Amino acid sequence: AGSLYVVATPIGNLDDLSPRAARVLGEVALIAAEDTRHSGRLLRHLGLSRPMLSLHEHNEAARVDTLDARLAAGEDVALISDAGTPLISDPGFVLVRELRARGRRIVPLPGPCALVAALSAAGLPTDRFLFQGFLPARGGPRRARLEALAAREETLVFYESPHRVRDTLADLETVLGERRVVLARELTKAFETFLDGSARALLARMQADPDQARGEFVVMVAGAARRDDAEQSAVEADALLAALLA
Ligand code: SAM
Repeated sequence: AGSLYVVATPIGNLDDLSPRAARVLGEVALIAAEDTRHSGRLLRHLGLSRPMLSLHEHNEAARVDTLDARLAAGEDVALISDAGTPLISDPGFVLVRELRARGRRIVPLPGPCALVAALSAAGLPTDRFLFQGFLPARGGPRRARLEALAAREETLVFYESPHRVRDTLADLETVLGERRVVLARELTKAFETFLDGSARALLARMQADPDQARGEFVVMVAGAARRDDAEQSAVEADALLAALLA
């Protein structure tokens, strides 16, 4: 039987496509793509022409049997999304879950992912982080989600659209107060920018320079204050002492 290759594609800079990804995309019998027109441009840029099939959130479940039949017939299939790593705030989860349940071989081809790229250059703690994808579009549910995250100590990571980034910053200030926020904008593209400061300061930057509100964003927020190491050791020492005395 064939394999499903889950292939990461660039989030801006086309040079970020790995040689292995280019090779696999050139060899598979079929490429399942979120938007075949969009991905067709990437393939043309690579000088490749392979049969494509659309796979998006509205038809994903219906595609499972078709793709499984191709794999059963011994053909290899690639899954790509419009940008970055499939399944990460992108289609593919249902397909991968179902094919794995049927015992198919699923091979990840790692590469660009906006959340990892953003974290790798932000200077916020990365030992523990909580990726939340997109926040709810409406203000009430968005603030409720932020309330629910307020006590989390992990670095918080969100995807955000340019239409909502100002509203989200305003809600971050309202709900979480004076936290360090890092905005990663247009990663790997010509206008890549990192802005760093309180939500209030970043809003002021956008008011002064509306270009700062354009493009694609990853929003990262410092987690709630962690107990420092000295406090932590004291707590552990107390627990040890209590155990020994017992
Ligand atoms: N699967 C993709 C990945 O691996 O990052 C994410 C797809 S999601 C539909 C699109 C969101 O990812 C954008 O709204 C933005 O928040 C983020 N994103 C994608 N490319 C980006 C870039 N070049 N710079 C900053 N954020 C980006």
